[in-house]
Amino acid sequence: MKIQNTQSKKLFNDAKKLMPGGVNSPVRSFKAVGGTPHFISRGDGPYIFDEDNNKFIDFTCSWGPLILGHNNKLVKNSIKEVLEFGTSFGTPTRRENILAKLIIDSIKSIEKVRFVNSGTEATMSAVRLARGYTKKDLVIKFEGCYHGHADIFLSNAGSGLATFDQPTSPGVPQAVVDSTITLDFNDIKQVRNTFEKYSNKIAAVIVEPVTGNMSVIKPKKEFIQGLRELCTKYNSLLIFDEVMTGYRVSHGGAQYHLNVEPDITTLGKVIGGGLPVGAYGGKNEIMSYISPEGPVYQAGTLSGNPVSMSAGIAMLKQLENKKVYEHLNHITNYLSSGLIEISQKYNYPMIVNSFCSMVGIFCTNKKVEKYKDISKECVNNYNDLHNYFLENNIYFPPSAYEALFLSTEMKTNHIDYVLSVFEKFVKNY
Ligand SMILES: *Cc1c(COP(=O)(O)O)cnc(C)c1O
Repeated sequence: MKIQNTQSKKLFNDAKKLMPGGVNSPVRSFKAVGGTPHFISRGDGPYIFDEDNNKFIDFTCSWGPLILGHNNKLVKNSIKEVLEFGTSFGTPTRRENILAKLIIDSIKSIEKVRFVNSGTEATMSAVRLARGYTKKDLVIKFEGCYHGHADIFLSNAGSGLATFDQPTSPGVPQAVVDSTITLDFNDIKQVRNTFEKYSNKIAAVIVEPVTGNMSVIKPKKEFIQGLRELCTKYNSLLIFDEVMTGYRVSHGGAQYHLNVEPDITTLGKVIGGGLPVGAYGGKNEIMSYISPEGPVYQAGTLSGNPVSMSAGIAMLKQLENKKVYEHLNHITNYLSSGLIEISQKYNYPMIVNSFCSMVGIFCTNKKVEKYKDISKECVNNYNDLHNYFLENNIYFPPSAYEALFLSTEMKTNHIDYVLSVFEKFVKNY
């Protein structure tokens, strides 16, 4: 039954001679799940096709951005239209205003926004802004949340609670992460203790309000509200990293569902419609600290690029239709309840955490509320599941720590197929 992967294997061998690990981003390499990554030649609606012309239902959606599925017609037309006039001018352009307005009108906590080229740039700049604005240095983050690959984020907790971090990558100086403190997600007590210990020194707390990078973990109410209260009390800024959740879980971001307003929001992925983009925004008063209005420096040769803006505009306009999220909610629930039902029927260990169009699968029976709850067994089981699905033309993210993303192009028949494959898998388990 194994699907043919000849062309991808050949291309991957060539790629490994040309690029480190054969890829331009590590998780694409399939290192976590084993096997060879599929080289994709085209996408269409809910499907991707590889170089051997295998067809897959795609649950990665380019790691989040493609909420309307592959090759969306209006996004494509919008890009074509702008290409007629040139690709970059290094000057202000009309489309930046349009996309900025769309974002400000939909995310309540954003009054002004700055465009950058990736999520990494957005989070990195947001922390610089928070430090510049508060004139403090320390930053609290949470284990398992991903905020891109800037030095300040590549760290984990030192030994003992609320001590300073250690780098998780060679090349990151200890001095850089001396100002980062990593705590457990969903543990407000740890955060409170840390604020009490370093009361006047914490510039910001950065968090994925609903995580997608240790798969999907929802915040406890007391946790997310507690972060808001503590940041306000100690004059620190709360940064919601909504690079993944922004426009994916609702038109107003995860903050809309959680009813908590951050001081700064970072965006990326969906707002670029599949082109490279990032953004950060917040209240006027805070954003006025950014150059050239204020003293905190941040720039970008291709920032606000007309092609990316154009794709983003076409994307966000389509997301104004409430039916988009209604449909996504519906098929998300359809998938998660189906998975749960089958796993219970066959006594297969599985917990499904879903949040409108993001689905987290944990192959375990134990509650998952923080990074440390994701066991080795959980990961190994997921890898088996991933491989089985791949052989049956279903493309799940090649890592147990990644969320599944659904698109509007997915209908109940696609989900029914996934559930039938899942049932075969657990029957043989
Ligand atoms: C993807 C992601 C980033 C990094 O964005 P890039 O565009 O890959 O640099 C940052 N934060 C979160 C929450 C993300 O999901």
